[in-house]
Amino acid sequence: MIEQARQQLQHYFGYPSFRPGQEQVISHAMNKQNTLAVMPTGGGKSICYQIPGMVMDGTAIIISPLISLMKDQVDALTALGVPATYINSSLSNEEQRQRLQDMKRNRYSFVYVAPERFDSGFFLQAIQSIKLSLIAFDEAHCISQWGHDFRPSYRSIVPTLNKLNNLPVVMALTATATTEVITDIQRLIHVQDDAVVNTGFARNNLAFRIVKGQDKRDFLSRYVKERSSESGIIYAATRKDVDYIHQFLIRKGFQAGKYHAGLNELERKQAQNDFIQDKTTIMVATNAFGMGIDKSNVRYVLHYAVPMNIESYYQEAGRAGRDGEPSECILLFSGQDVGLQKYLIEQSEMAEDKKAVEYEKLQAMVNYCHTHRCLQEYILDYFHDQTEREVCGKCSNCQYEGEKEDMTKEAQMVLSCVKRMGERFGAGMTAKVLKGSSDKRVKEFRFDQLSTYGLMGQYTEKEISSFIHFLTAEDLLNPGQGKFPSLQLTPKSLEVLTGKRNVWMKVEATHTVTTVDYHEELFDELREFRKNIAAQHELPPYVIFSDATLKDFAR
Ligand code: ADP
Ligand code: MG
Ligand code: ZN
Repeated sequence: MIEQARQQLQHYFGYPSFRPGQEQVISHAMNKQNTLAVMPTGGGKSICYQIPGMVMDGTAIIISPLISLMKDQVDALTALGVPATYINSSLSNEEQRQRLQDMKRNRYSFVYVAPERFDSGFFLQAIQSIKLSLIAFDEAHCISQWGHDFRPSYRSIVPTLNKLNNLPVVMALTATATTEVITDIQRLIHVQDDAVVNTGFARNNLAFRIVKGQDKRDFLSRYVKERSSESGIIYAATRKDVDYIHQFLIRKGFQAGKYHAGLNELERKQAQNDFIQDKTTIMVATNAFGMGIDKSNVRYVLHYAVPMNIESYYQEAGRAGRDGEPSECILLFSGQDVGLQKYLIEQSEMAEDKKAVEYEKLQAMVNYCHTHRCLQEYILDYFHDQTEREVCGKCSNCQYEGEKEDMTKEAQMVLSCVKRMGERFGAGMTAKVLKGSSDKRVKEFRFDQLSTYGLMGQYTEKEISSFIHFLTAEDLLNPGQGKFPSLQLTPKSLEVLTGKRNVWMKVEATHTVTTVDYHEELFDELREFRKNIAAQHELPPYVIFSDATLKDFAR
């Protein structure tokens, strides 16, 4: 039977061979075994249900959350000579009735619908009366409350499925599945363990990069200029930001379109088409853009701000390089953006426990921006992906060639300060204490009495905070949870405090003295200053002074 599937692949789609996982998913489905396919974006999930639907008798019902996606897929199938249609609210009532009639006459091999269609009695009656080949849930994570895009209408289909007695097999396909989501989907649509096909999430053609401490606009215009002939998506956090960045690029003479929920359907459609047909090279958008968009030659996805969690980030970033060619996923980090995401969680109408989960996911996202580990590996570990991986070697951390310095002493300072503050405060307050700030709250809590007060006075508060974030990302500190998270020590912290573990950190650009031309005497003064501080705080002589501190001092 799989031979037949392979022939279809070659004959209809013109591909010589299956991609990883496709063959297994297709044979499960053709053996009428419910199956769940977990494959990365661009992994080729559509073919997994299209081929069984073409080979097996009867009509395949494909449930998809996006109306725009349906039309594209139906057009593609129709062009291949496969009878397919969609029934959704974009059609007139008359047209919907007509297509439903045709469906009842077994005219179609494929009918695409939105989940809400299952609320219609006419539709239910129709699917009970015809010969079905399969029902497939595309973007199946929408079915689970643990997914990042839960849709109640998806879930409410489940009882209906259980009642259908003419349904040979159910398929679920998703690019985003944490263990919770996988088990949830398995339970809901009865997928046995051996019918879960998880190819792993690695996208070996993508190079991940974090950009920190640079002017975002400058970086952006330089970046897109270098790639003026290539397609790219720029994701911004809000509609206002989209409008702003779009304007900025247009004024600079770039061919950019924009997409967000504040535009009308026609405008969105136009922008999307122009981008897909390469009439514009850049798409500036909120996360409203992209789900189900099949544009294979996107060479970069640039996030202008930190997204709310790794799930969304990987899904969005994964829209780069669907054709398998080398592509980049850039994230421009700034602390303010994290503040915005926190605000959005806080303002949302989620229950408190759900908010706590979201804060935690945001923290993992922030850690991604601060970690010094391989970025690809960080993401795969986040998804508990245990499939064998290739060495990345191309993310900004793997490519980093600068020096590393021993920051064990500084880490000990931070950790003991956290301990002395009772593990009840966040990074901001801890940084103030270590800096020796005269902030009112520091005095209120009498933290200026602590032996760690001012211990890192030679750094700026910002540098201390970012060092704390680094420690958090390395699991040397627990960032805590909730709206006002408080730092806590971890088992690894104790190893550092007792000298059993050393802490190495990359020398970040901001730590190197490059721009200021110092006089010899100034250096003398500086040495003196250093010695004093060192003596005062019993610091070892290798304590590093940041650029900013030097400049402060020079003033
Ligand atoms: P997904 O839904 O998993 O994100 P799609 O089904 O949209 O991915 O497929 C992504 C791209 O990969 C499409 O352009 C598709 O035609 C192509 N593709 C799918 N299967 C194969 C294959 N076996 N060989 C080559 N290209 C494939
Ligand atoms: Mg898809
Ligand atoms: Zn890497």
